[in-house]
Amino acid sequence: MTTYNSDQSARVGTQTVWGGEDEYLMQGATQVPVVHSVSYGYDDIDVWQDVALGKRPGHIYGRMSNPTVRVFEEKVRLLEGAEDACSFATGMAAISSTLFAFLSPGDRVVTIKDTYGGTNKIFIETLPRFNVDVALCDTTDHDMIEREIAKGCQLLYLESPTNPTMKVTDLERLAKAAHAAQALVVVDNTFATPINQLPLSLGADLVIHSATKYLGGHADALAGVVCGSHKLVKEVYHFREIHGAALDPMAAYLMLRGMKTLHLRVRQQNENAMHIAQFLEEQPLVEDVFYPGLASHDGHEIAKKQMSGFGGMLSFSLKGGIDSVRVFLPKLKYAHLAANLGAVETIAAPPRTSSHVENTLEERQAMGIPEGLIRYSVGIEDADDLIDDLKQALEHLETNVEVGAAK
Ligand SMILES: *Cc1c(COP(=O)(O)O)cnc(C)c1O
Repeated sequence: MTTYNSDQSARVGTQTVWGGEDEYLMQGATQVPVVHSVSYGYDDIDVWQDVALGKRPGHIYGRMSNPTVRVFEEKVRLLEGAEDACSFATGMAAISSTLFAFLSPGDRVVTIKDTYGGTNKIFIETLPRFNVDVALCDTTDHDMIEREIAKGCQLLYLESPTNPTMKVTDLERLAKAAHAAQALVVVDNTFATPINQLPLSLGADLVIHSATKYLGGHADALAGVVCGSHKLVKEVYHFREIHGAALDPMAAYLMLRGMKTLHLRVRQQNENAMHIAQFLEEQPLVEDVFYPGLASHDGHEIAKKQMSGFGGMLSFSLKGGIDSVRVFLPKLKYAHLAANLGAVETIAAPPRTSSHVENTLEERQAMGIPEGLIRYSVGIEDADDLIDDLKQALEHLETNVEVGAAK
């Protein structure tokens, strides 16, 4: 029982359960221990120095490495098919550290308008202060993105599907264009998870997760992770080691516990989301449904090509705009109304109070976000109960006088 770490051939559902654990199971324990120790003692100063210099395995100090955290990194690494992984305290720490590890003043980044809200702030507020030029492209305008890449850039940053209207970008096509320009390709794979999409196999150099979402899956701990080649991850790791956004061991343990069921959760969420999207498409009070699994979705063909499942995230807009959202949302029995996603429970939120709260009405309109939009992170509940729940909330909306007038 000593070969799981190196067993790259195991299938995904086996990796989520066993991957990365064997060398850390102590004294017959069947579960990975939470090692809270900040430092590690050495009697032999030569051994100590070798470990400190990375010449032999071991741990020195908690900001640099920790056994529990290491197992989490190993597990994600195996799932993404990467050589190495480096974890962070949050998804945003993983994203900002990766950008700062590779960018210097005078550099240029090409990215899309629909990145996660916090990521977008780095592109429009932080990087320009460091004299890094950022080209923000229309998320689905592949020709424009390729033109911007061809002008020269050091880094291409992508996300697919995106928040909140689930736009899909062709990762393989754009990675190819970026490599022709000698640029590094970074992909945020939070929405898809490694169960549904493997960006490294499509040409990405680094894959990032807000592990807070699907990887952890229980909305009870924050974490981030970056995967890629030894060479690139080492640079990211070096940045973290110095700048300090290390993952806490207890949070790493919660991630590991959550990840044991990642494949089961995500497959259920894929299935639920498809049923719900199809149901919503038929409802007269629903204006639009955004789900990459629907043939009506703009990105469906690309999604079919690069994803093995369409994910648990969808959004839909109600006729009557925000007034309808106000009437509809509080009627949902099986949805937390909250700014989170990827948990076992269903979560619903209007972008104007969650992901895009900092944008003006005009900005949201320019991004193609209808005011009546609801982002719906599908949980692992029975789909029929979720559909019944949506049905009764729509019926309530139907009988509401003001909204009745609006349709
Ligand atoms: C939530 C999220 C992030 C940020 O992650 P945190 O763990 O909240 O810092 C980044 N990207 C995407 C796509 C997200 O959904």
